[in-house]
Amino acid sequence: MTEPIFLEPVFHEKIWGGRKLETEFGYKIPDGKIGELWAISAHPNGPDVIANGPLKGKTLDVAWKEDQDYFGHQKAKVFPLLTKILDANDSLSVQVHPDDAYAAAHERPGELGKTECWYVISAEPGSYLIYGHHAKTREELADMIHKGEWDKLLRKVPVKTGDFVYVPSGTIHALNKGIMVLETQQSSDTTYRLYDYDRVGKDGKKRELHLQQSIDTTTVPSQDPKLNITSEQKDDATITTFVTAPLSKFFSVYKIDLDGKLTQTPTAPYTLVSVLDGEGTIEADGQSYPIKKGTHFIIPNQIKSWTFTGKMMMITSTPGEEE
Ligand code: ZN
Repeated sequence: MTEPIFLEPVFHEKIWGGRKLETEFGYKIPDGKIGELWAISAHPNGPDVIANGPLKGKTLDVAWKEDQDYFGHQKAKVFPLLTKILDANDSLSVQVHPDDAYAAAHERPGELGKTECWYVISAEPGSYLIYGHHAKTREELADMIHKGEWDKLLRKVPVKTGDFVYVPSGTIHALNKGIMVLETQQSSDTTYRLYDYDRVGKDGKKRELHLQQSIDTTTVPSQDPKLNITSEQKDDATITTFVTAPLSKFFSVYKIDLDGKLTQTPTAPYTLVSVLDGEGTIEADGQSYPIKKGTHFIIPNQIKSWTFTGKMMMITSTPGEEE
């Protein structure tokens, strides 16, 4: 019998974090400004521990190395995805992430680039994102960054609860105050900060900026990805496809709105699931497991069919095809 892989989340304190992971999701979180919950993570800066089954007690990165039966014998050296919940009680730095080639060459061998995407769990009225920029050439970009002409450079985009935002590597972006998202991203922790609102941290210091790396890795001119969001009915569920290949070669992301039963079969070697609202069960391999808002798990390769029952909203994701 193979069980879904449930994970014990890792929390990260951030200068911009808040308490919504406790007040909205009911997690027992450490004191302080908790900005990030690493829900499904094998990244060395915060790998999750597996909470059940034969792999119980292992971290996900170790399971990836030792127990490939669960992941379909993938060639990649590292688990390629990372799922987080972010609570932006204050605005995040204006930032950009490199692609795979730049991250491996300039950070450390094996570090991935970072294409990410957000499902907006909640956004206070009037919320907006920084997304993209107005520079026409790299020289103009460098000039505006060095002069700190942020109002001229940065594009502001309104955002509301339920939106989906795809952020390819090379896109200047920032989550702003009052927004909570479920993030699906490449397993990377490389961020280049252009601007951090001149804030100082607990240690009285400003966080490091990375102006040259930002100028090198930003896509110029800015590009808007052509999303093709579609929905279909299956059993008692509406399944929305937010992004998939060929637009995103790193992951596919779906939303499931369920009121009743939904049976699924795999579309990839393994599937990541985050329950964002409601409660119910997942039945797999003859066993039923309770799941509810705040539960995150992986459906491993050995499970060839599963059934969700209940009234729930879930975000699921699958890895892109290996090259
Ligand atoms: Zn980012």
